[in-house]
Amino acid sequence: MKVIDHINQAAGNSTLISFEILPPLKGKSINALWEHLDPLVEFKPVYINVTYHRSESMFKKKQDGSFEKVEVRKRPGTVGICAAIQNRYKVDAVAHLICGGFSKQETEDALIDLNFLGVDNVLALRGDAPKNESSFEPEPGGHKYAIELLQQISNMNNGIYLEEDLKNAVKTNFCIGVAGYPEKHFESPNMQTDLYHLKLKVESGADYVVTQLFYDNKKYFEYVAACRSYGINIPIIPGLKPITSKKQLTVIPRTFHVDIPEELSSEILRCKTDADVEIVGAEWLLQQSKELKAAGVPVLHYYTLGKPHVIANVVKELV
Ligand code: FAD
Repeated sequence: MKVIDHINQAAGNSTLISFEILPPLKGKSINALWEHLDPLVEFKPVYINVTYHRSESMFKKKQDGSFEKVEVRKRPGTVGICAAIQNRYKVDAVAHLICGGFSKQETEDALIDLNFLGVDNVLALRGDAPKNESSFEPEPGGHKYAIELLQQISNMNNGIYLEEDLKNAVKTNFCIGVAGYPEKHFESPNMQTDLYHLKLKVESGADYVVTQLFYDNKKYFEYVAACRSYGINIPIIPGLKPITSKKQLTVIPRTFHVDIPEELSSEILRCKTDADVEIVGAEWLLQQSKELKAAGVPVLHYYTLGKPHVIANVVKELV
């Protein structure tokens, strides 16, 4: 079932739950993923997102002692994991797709795989620049912005493939989500410009928005209000992630370009151990979730990244 159909079916009467996971590191068993997800699935998520990861350049030592640059995808398997999730849990999976590192042909092939596997939900994203590069560069023959990827998916939903002369091509049936940024995408000169580009994605067929994580609900509420006054009227799903270590006080703002409220950061700084931080982070997430639920958000989307027990403890207080 499509994410948008889940939302419409709930019709504002209940707030749904969804989770996001990362594929295991290359060489690891999928059992690690099941151990992570099994306790979370108890809470009846309506869908589970699986992130996509571009390959990264690494230097590998050769036998003669010199180094060669190789491209390694550390977390492969998104498409297969989506199918395995649907098979194991009978819960819909949402495959993230990114522009970075992919040609349009490779994207089309991934979409055909997803369609054959019965995965009807995708999140269309641009992806970021590789860690050692300063700005995002599209793959030769690939997309520069998420909107171009979205248009490719919309085209396939209308039976239009890259070989436009394909006769009677199968129409895919993808529900397409896109990303939104309550604190503005870091490359956008201002919020208005960011909203302008988001609106273009909506006009190109996006069904809903999932937000970047945030720790101040006021920023989410203001963002939704700004989107509405800009004519963006599709569901806007809040993305949520607990803080579980002191290190994250600097890593999260650097990685995700979001603020951590002073009230939360000072409480974390007073903690003696990361176990204490986990308690503070979980309590903050619970209060955020309760307020968002009371405000009638369509879905609470949790980035579970390695801390399923924290999410489980929060969600159990909500259901
Ligand atoms: P875009 O919509 O392309 O926007 C990127 C920037 O360009 C913005 O500043 C926008 O305003 C601007 N822009 C957009 N269109 C145009 C245009 N036509 N002309 C000029 N400027 C334009 N990354 C991964 O690698 N894998 C994942 O699985 C993943 N999952 C994510 C899930 C969520 C919910 C979120 C919020 C992010 C995720 N990311 C993921 C990170 C994401 O790829 C980055 O935030 C990336 O920097 C932007 O992606 P986007 O889809 O918003 O890009």
